[in-house]
Amino acid sequence: MTEQFQDRLKRDRDSLHRFLFENFSVRGKLVRLDSAWQAVLERHPYPPPVRDALGEALAASALLASTLKFEGVLTLQLRGEGPLKLLVAQCTSHMTLRGMATWSGDVAQGALSSMTGDGQLAVSIESESDQQRYQGIVPLEGDTIADCLQIYFENSEQLPTRLWLTVDERASAGMLLQRLPEERKSSVADEDAWPRVVTLADTLTDEELLKLSNQELLKRLFHEEDVRLFEPTPVSFRCGCSKQRVESLLRTLGQQEVRDIIAQHGAVEVRCEFCNRSYQFDKVDTAGLFAGDEPGLASKTVH
Ligand SMILES: [Zn+2]
Repeated sequence: MTEQFQDRLKRDRDSLHRFLFENFSVRGKLVRLDSAWQAVLERHPYPPPVRDALGEALAASALLASTLKFEGVLTLQLRGEGPLKLLVAQCTSHMTLRGMATWSGDVAQGALSSMTGDGQLAVSIESESDQQRYQGIVPLEGDTIADCLQIYFENSEQLPTRLWLTVDERASAGMLLQRLPEERKSSVADEDAWPRVVTLADTLTDEELLKLSNQELLKRLFHEEDVRLFEPTPVSFRCGCSKQRVESLLRTLGQQEVRDIIAQHGAVEVRCEFCNRSYQFDKVDTAGLFAGDEPGLASKTVH
């Protein structure tokens, strides 16, 4: 039994599981980030309150990205005027994620809104194929990331959605429930189904969400319901930064600006805030960068 239980837990690591209630139109997702979460923490040390907010935001970004119907990226961005300045959690539809946060001074443990002060939460979705972008912004009100997202769901034309999130230094986990439009005409309408499953899900403790296998968790919460659990999808840490992206950033800075930096520091260094990777460009590298430009024109740029 114990061995079997361990196996199941192993199966849930760094993965997203979809599940479906057989008798009414509610679907759910469970996510666990283990190595993916450690990969974020290895790159930057965070004070515990910032770390916890980031971990929950990452689990939320994975749950929301898994609902995308196209290839793209979902970004949760919190901007505040308190000690927590900026927090970004990003997950692609391929279930690769990255995140970072910046803060200043001492950050006391407490409600999210006390860390951020006045601030806002932006949820943006970018499609890979047609460069379409959608963004929803809500004020940062509420004690947790899940509370803020709740306000976002209520303000946007989303399907009724609820999230439960939790985190510790080893793992981050979350559950999403979503009420789908009634499709199955043959099934008897169960009006109470949505409030019933939400009430049951509200009994979920942080401990259960972090420690139980998904199968055990669903059994404990919804033992009277018929729930189908699907095969897991792996979730991993991956930063989308690249030399090409940094090059295009330098191009937007302009040749003169880049030359000035090199003259002063010997090289341009750009560090990715997500993965901490450093990109260095010296005189030779940057010459290639602006090779297409007419040198005569660029040097005439007036400051
Ligand atoms: Zn990076």
